[in-house]
Amino acid sequence: MTFTVHGLAVSRGIAIGRAVIVAASRMDVAHYFVKTDQVEAEIERLRNARRVVVEEIGRVQQSLADLGPSDAHPELAALLDVHLMLLQDEQLTSGVKHWIVDRHYNAEWALTTQLEIIGRQFDEMEDPYLRERKADLEQVVERMLRVMRGVASPVAAPAPAPAEETAAEPAADAPLVLIAHDLSPADMLQFKQSVFAGFVTDVGGKTSHTAIVARSMDIPAVVGARSASHLINQDDWVIIDGDAGVVVVDPSPILLAEYGFKQRQGEVERERLSRLKNTPAVTLDGQKIELLANIEQPDDAAAALKAGAVGVGLFRTEFLFMGRNGRLPDEEEQYQAYRRAVEGMQGLPVTIRTVDVGADKPLDRAPVRAGEDHLNPALGLRAIRWSLADPAMFLAQLRAILRASAHGPVNLLIPMLAHASEIRQTLALIDKARAQLDARGQLHGVVRLGAMIEVPAAALTIPLFLRHFDFLSVGTNDLIQYTLAIDRADEAVSHLYDPVHPAVLQLLASTISQARGAGKGVSVCGEMAGDVGMTRLLLGLGLRSFSMHPSQILAVKQQILRCDTGKLATWAQTVLTAEDPAALMAD
Ligand code: PEP
Ligand code: MG
Repeated sequence: MTFTVHGLAVSRGIAIGRAVIVAASRMDVAHYFVKTDQVEAEIERLRNARRVVVEEIGRVQQSLADLGPSDAHPELAALLDVHLMLLQDEQLTSGVKHWIVDRHYNAEWALTTQLEIIGRQFDEMEDPYLRERKADLEQVVERMLRVMRGVASPVAAPAPAPAEETAAEPAADAPLVLIAHDLSPADMLQFKQSVFAGFVTDVGGKTSHTAIVARSMDIPAVVGARSASHLINQDDWVIIDGDAGVVVVDPSPILLAEYGFKQRQGEVERERLSRLKNTPAVTLDGQKIELLANIEQPDDAAAALKAGAVGVGLFRTEFLFMGRNGRLPDEEEQYQAYRRAVEGMQGLPVTIRTVDVGADKPLDRAPVRAGEDHLNPALGLRAIRWSLADPAMFLAQLRAILRASAHGPVNLLIPMLAHASEIRQTLALIDKARAQLDARGQLHGVVRLGAMIEVPAAALTIPLFLRHFDFLSVGTNDLIQYTLAIDRADEAVSHLYDPVHPAVLQLLASTISQARGAGKGVSVCGEMAGDVGMTRLLLGLGLRSFSMHPSQILAVKQQILRCDTGKLATWAQTVLTAEDPAALMAD
């Protein structure tokens, strides 16, 4: 029966495919298709993993028996029996085989898919003892996954084959969409290389980092869909409408045809926009507008160039630091990554932001530590605060960026500054990093220094920032979050997350006008910059530099080509002083 689930539209377009329900903690399992002639080998890996785990358990059972009756642990022995039983379970083994044989999933993917299905059945059991056996099942599967990790697939694991290649596979007959309760930004990195054509999560806000990465991947996505991961079943047909924030489950043929038509229309529109790639972004009254790209990984530089960006306005370097079980990239690894981004941009400037972890971008999946769950990480040790708390780590990053600047123009951007003391410490550390490189005789270039304005305290003390920095970049995602006291990742308050709240607009307008008055560069790199509904207002407020996901550049450019900044400046003043600016946005 068809039903719809509503959430927040975060990344445009329509995806139609079969649902794959994945627990966030299992995102780091590789997801790829195997070829027909590799199916048997994949099943063999599975059999082997089961055999190894059965032997492991057998050895533990034997050592328990050796202890003799006085030291016997009856609960442990019973538990091991349960684990053995689960390993022989017909539903688990035949189900996993089904995903490999009929769908050509790799063994790990097949195993975790079947785990989700059986896990749900356990959740629904009345008997609490039986319900708790789900944890045993998870342990058994984890053990098998561990064994399989040591015995790589004969296929190119863990990097999955690209979707286009695999689409030709006989069993990969329909695109797949991922449904999860939650995905962290680190999960999204996994997701970026996977076979899924769209995703839906139960939680998340419009400017949560999960949503931001979805936008950068340019795939349809809906977040904050509440109980979607419970309502949707493994393998259900699903339509994701990333423009409307709607998920249609088990659609009727008429709905499928309607959304299929919309999907094709979207493709035609993209094709039309792509013709603007080489058109300069100049308004009707001759104002030249700078359109820059936001990137998360060095390889994203290619998408930036393809979209016609004239540089990178924000390289979120924290994605190099996440999902590594706390092992941070050293100076050399970072240098190579920054250098790749700089060289990838072929002489165009790259703005590298120092690491911004914390809040909804934790380093890894570690849950909130016991005793700290009352703390608000968005107000805690995040971004520059985190960097200044570990000067050795920060210096390594600064040296890596300075070294990369020898390969092309680099701007160095500092996130979340609010205090004069933070500015002083940061500048002192940049000097120190340079001195260290000089002492080593290592090459480094000249960088322009920029400050992100994303805390109201900073927006209210712009002259301080203009004295110390060459340019400003307004992080509207956080500026809105901190001005309105709205957690940007919390869908429960997403209706109050208002980019055109008069307080936000005033901070934005005064930041732009003060920077321009001082002859310094100012850009916006928050999600607002890539929202075509905001382009006129930002131009009217005097903004001439926008940084956004590559996928948004051409649509924003199209809007710019139709604008007259003189007329917009007058209109923007009325919006700025209105009680309800949102009501004037369509004028
Ligand atoms: C912002 O806050 O607007 C911004 C660009 O930084 P991030 O989204 O990474 O916090
Ligand atoms: Mg920010």
